[in-house]
Amino acid sequence: MKALVKESAGPGFVMRDVPEPRIRDDEVLIRVRRAGVCGTDVHIYDWDAWASGRCKPPFVVGHEFAGDVVQVGSLVTDVQEGDRVTAEGHIVDGRCLLCRTGNSHVCPYTKIIGVDRDGCFAEYIAMPATNVWHLDDSISYEIGGIHDPMGNAFHTALTAEIPGATVLITGCGPIGIFAVGICRAAGASRIIASDVNPKRLALAKQMGAHDIVTPAEADAAVKRATDGLGVDVVLEMSGVPAAIHQALALVRVGGRVQMLGIPSKPIELDLPKEVIFKGITIYGVVGRRMYDTWHQMTRFLKAGEFNPEPVITHRFPMADFDAAIAAIKSGDAGKVIFEIA
Ligand code: NAD
Ligand code: ZN
Repeated sequence: MKALVKESAGPGFVMRDVPEPRIRDDEVLIRVRRAGVCGTDVHIYDWDAWASGRCKPPFVVGHEFAGDVVQVGSLVTDVQEGDRVTAEGHIVDGRCLLCRTGNSHVCPYTKIIGVDRDGCFAEYIAMPATNVWHLDDSISYEIGGIHDPMGNAFHTALTAEIPGATVLITGCGPIGIFAVGICRAAGASRIIASDVNPKRLALAKQMGAHDIVTPAEADAAVKRATDGLGVDVVLEMSGVPAAIHQALALVRVGGRVQMLGIPSKPIELDLPKEVIFKGITIYGVVGRRMYDTWHQMTRFLKAGEFNPEPVITHRFPMADFDAAIAAIKSGDAGKVIFEIA
């Protein structure tokens, strides 16, 4: 089969003919139709410090996908050939303290497809049946293929109390833009979205932001919208230190900051001023809750209140991987998709 491979330590991917994966008794084989390209893939493509410390080439890249089940292992009971599916890309041990207390999203033994084992930028992928998520007939392969980053946004938004809330979203990359639509559907009373990039702010507006602002305009916009109090909830979705400080400054006393964005280096906080004496709660987001987030996502999509389609801005065949990576690096794209089959 054709696959995008990280062949050796160093920049770039190569398209290769590789053997089709062989499934174990508890796995299924999925024919990949659509796959999402993400910032993590860019780190692996560039072979930056994170990627070279974590990944062991050669492996097939990619972790966001949807497709059809074409083969099931002998122990699999609830997935069948022909099922339309996507999958949770974090493969957990299922046995540890965290997994057995409903917190698999922070399982210390997590292996991620396309990072720690072969991924989905390929014609076929093998997945444990427990990770498979069935797609409702009303949900396309394309939307199925972006359940992973959309799930990050659902997890971040819906572990805060959104109905009626005033919400600031710092960072309108694909995940921030999804979060705008989710907060709108979940009944936020005011959504202020901030970014430095006008194209991304335009997408945030299209997804339902009440106010779109640059970071320099955010302080005044929040003060205006909240009578000077600060917002109930901030979703920090940039990972940029200035935005993290701004998130802590603009949340109201007793409010909540959901931290999704990942800074590239340690950052310094004035804890008494920025956190303790404001009495705020900070929640660190890892992946998607298994499987609360997945159920919520399916229900929102089926209800039709949240439409992620405008977030998808670029579609490429897998062979155009250099162009796909360049589109993400441009900073202007929403979600970038590979059309595989
Ligand atoms: P992205 O990098 O495309 O989006 C970040 C956005 O922040 C960009 O649009 C950028 O213009 C904007 N930005 C830059 N400076 C800003 C500022 N001062 N104020 C407001 N916005 C600013 O990323 P994405 O794919 O949407 O992911 C968002 C973040 O979430 C990244 O840091 C990513 O690494 C992280 N992430 C975390 C998890 C997790 O499980 N915690 C999962 C996926 C991604
Ligand atoms: Zn575990």
